[in-house]
Amino acid sequence: MIIDSGQVTKNIDETCDVVVVGSGAGGSVMAKELAERGLSVILIEEGGYHTVESFNNTDTINSLVNLYRNAGGTFLAGKPNVMYAEGCCVGGSTTINGGMCWRTPDKILKRWQWEFGLTDLTPKKMEPFHHRVEEIISVKPVLQESMNNDSMILKRGADKLGYQTRANLRNHNTCVGANQCITGCPTGGKQPPLVTYIPAFLKAGGKLITHCRVKKIRLKNRRATGVKGVMIDPVTKAVRAKVKIRSKITIVCCGAVQTPALLMRSGIRSASGALGNNLFIHPNTKVLGVFDEPIYGWKGVNQAYQITEFIDEGIIMGVNFIPPGIFALAFPFYGGGFLNTMKEIFNHSVCGAALIEDTSRGRVINLPFDQVVTTYQLNARDFELAKRATALLAEIYFAAGAKRVYLPFRNLHEINSIDEVRKIYTTQLKPIDLELMSVHIMGTCRMGINSQQSVVNPSGELHDVKGLFVADASLFPSSIGVNPQQTIMALATRSAFLISENISRYMI
Ligand SMILES: Cc1cc2nc3c(=O)[nH]c(=O)nc-3n(C[C@H](O)[C@H](O)[C@H](O)COP(=O)(O)OP(=O)(O)OC[C@H]3O[C@@H](n4cnc5c(N)ncnc54)[C@H](O)[C@@H]3O)c2cc1C
Repeated sequence: MIIDSGQVTKNIDETCDVVVVGSGAGGSVMAKELAERGLSVILIEEGGYHTVESFNNTDTINSLVNLYRNAGGTFLAGKPNVMYAEGCCVGGSTTINGGMCWRTPDKILKRWQWEFGLTDLTPKKMEPFHHRVEEIISVKPVLQESMNNDSMILKRGADKLGYQTRANLRNHNTCVGANQCITGCPTGGKQPPLVTYIPAFLKAGGKLITHCRVKKIRLKNRRATGVKGVMIDPVTKAVRAKVKIRSKITIVCCGAVQTPALLMRSGIRSASGALGNNLFIHPNTKVLGVFDEPIYGWKGVNQAYQITEFIDEGIIMGVNFIPPGIFALAFPFYGGGFLNTMKEIFNHSVCGAALIEDTSRGRVINLPFDQVVTTYQLNARDFELAKRATALLAEIYFAAGAKRVYLPFRNLHEINSIDEVRKIYTTQLKPIDLELMSVHIMGTCRMGINSQQSVVNPSGELHDVKGLFVADASLFPSSIGVNPQQTIMALATRSAFLISENISRYMI
């Protein structure tokens, strides 16, 4: 059953076993797994329920408005400021993500065991949870027939230089290579939770409430007893009704910015001081290569390959063709002249990015009136890593035959040969000159055994509040260096199993 703000005529007041807030990678998994175990589950989502049939990807603006938080215009304040994007719709960021899937790297799990006492998160013990997620969202290599030309060009450059590449694993079934993953897959071939976990949740009798923003967690004697929120009109943003849910278990899955904000707004503090801190973002440097040959990067699925040669240094690279309106943002140009440049290069370009496994940290600050500010300070180590990643990607493009490469530096925007890659090191560049963006926010409610060091325990329950769980990217104790959705989903599966095994503890 789905209840949307458009249908409500009076306030909602309901009781259930479990309320899950946020329907993205963590929330959709939690909701489905617990509903299928016979619990009454209400899943609340701030954004709307947009079906695959509604995805009209020629209208990028509409997709951004309907599917992204703040239409994609969210940023982290710092030097430099960093744009970040997250979903705000049923399925959360998984509805608009690239679909790349990675199991959590062993080195990361080992670090979490040593530093945070997460001894149960070994590759062997996590295997069944990853396997279950992979089965449900159909994780497999990209089909040969849906691969795009820009990925092949990236691979060509990497092969020439002897760099290791990885044929990406993605969640997909009948991918036709529409290359519209980030504006909503128009065929459902991507197999995100929107077409997998959410229908299974509804089939198991779950109730989904959409266009409902949870404002507070209800608390009594250091125990969570449900949530309070408001139904919002999607167009006017006016409040249409109040919502009160009483539950035995409350699970917050609002993503690494909104989750700590909701906890703080509810008056929750963590003895560790870690709540809202340790925001990691996998900063991305965008690098564009222009070639003589026609490429048509928009034909075929994005990111068929990633370059993994430098993964131990904390760098992975891939190409990701993006709609023209967003593509144009990569340039410092505008006006009629720029329109001609766009016409000249659009079908001859490869748009790639390098992802950094960051050690820099950011913070989520909760302000009055339901406002949130996020900050992020790029440290010297990560700035150097970003420069190196940019240089490597530029080198790969030139090795593949690029005639020109556009760089993400304010005062070094264009280079024209492989020899000029060195300019990245010889030009005076400061962090503030670097254009960064992020689509992987993590780490603000980190998990661990020690309440003085972490916000939640190894099953995701808050050290300081009983019956209150977190199950999203904010659990990560550190940056993981690879695309995070599968780790979030595997951890949520594990947590759901633990909750249902110990359900009698909460049914009082
Ligand atoms: C453009 C893009 C491309 C990406 N590509 C990849 C990729 O290829 N592979 C990969 O592994 N990862 C990718 N990611 C990242 C991945 O999708 C996210 O890391 C993951 O979805 C985060 O899961 P989550 O559960 O933490 O939050 P989300 O999936 O973002 O879900 C949070 C949900 O909570 C809702 N919410 C927030 N606050 C409230 C509230 N107060 N009340 C009610 N609901 C609320 C939000 O509206 C949202 O729907 C990408 C992300 C983006 C944006």
